[in-house]
Formats: sequence, structure tokens, C-alpha cells
Amino acid sequence: MAETIFTKIIDRDIPADIIYEDDEVLAFNDINPQAPTHFLVIPKKPIATINDIAAEDAELIGKMYLAAASIAKEMGFEQNGYRAVMNCNPDGGQTVYHIHLHVLAGKAMGWPPYQDALKQDLP
Ligand code: AMP
Repeated sequence: MAETIFTKIIDRDIPADIIYEDDEVLAFNDINPQAPTHFLVIPKKPIATINDIAAEDAELIGKMYLAAASIAKEMGFEQNGYRAVMNCNPDGGQTVYHIHLHVLAGKAMGWPPYQDALKQDLP
């Protein structure tokens, strides 16, 4: 897999506002926040997309959600709520090909998440 900017953050080759780290997972604030709180939870193991997650990665993916919930509790927004979302490939809006969980909080979010949603688009 080609090295991404997130590998450079893991290796401390470029700076990031890191808010959580353990042996397998790293979390840092998004450089272009889309909500009052917006951070990314990434595995240290490089996995390009959701499609590249292997069965052996199942526990690692679970640990990403555990880290997200733990940070949410520590930051005090777990009861108000938040959105945790992972984009996949171009139609999903993925731009960095190292999987990452976006965690967005601090405001009530609408649904659906895309602005051009029209009822006639639905099956
Ligand atoms: P996605 O479009 O789902 O692949 O999300 C990639 C996210 O990474 C975007 O929200 C970017 O703002 C964020 N991002 C890109 N480079 C950095 C960086 N150096 N530090 C923090 N966040 C970044």
C-alpha cells in the first residue's frame, strides 16, 4: 500500500494534534474540522479502505470504536451524542487511503448527510 499522510503522522514525520494513542490506534484532530469537535481515529496498521479490512483486523476495527467512545466520554460529549463515520472510495468521499473513523460532535447533525439528497433519488 502506498504511504499516506497518516503514516507520516504515525511516524511523527509531520505534526498533528494527537489526542489519543495506544499500541494499535491513534487519534488526532482533523485539520479541516466539519463540526465543533472533529477528530480522526486511525489504526497504526495501514489499511487502504474498508474493502481491504481482513478478518484478522476485526478486533482492531473494534478497538477504533472503543477508542472513539472512550475519547467521547473523556471529552464529555458521549451523552449529547456524535457521529462516527468511515468514508470508502470516491463515492464515499474518501481522500486519504488509510482507513479512518471521523468522529464529529458539538452540534446536532442532520440526516441524510449529503446536501443534494432528493426523495426521487431513493429506490
Ligand atoms: P476522507 O475524505 O474521509 O478521506 O477524510 C480525510 C480527512 O483527513 C479530511 O477530513 C481531512 O481534513 C483530514 N486530513 C488530511 N490531512 C490531515 C492532516 N495532516 N492532519 C489532520 N487531518 C488531516
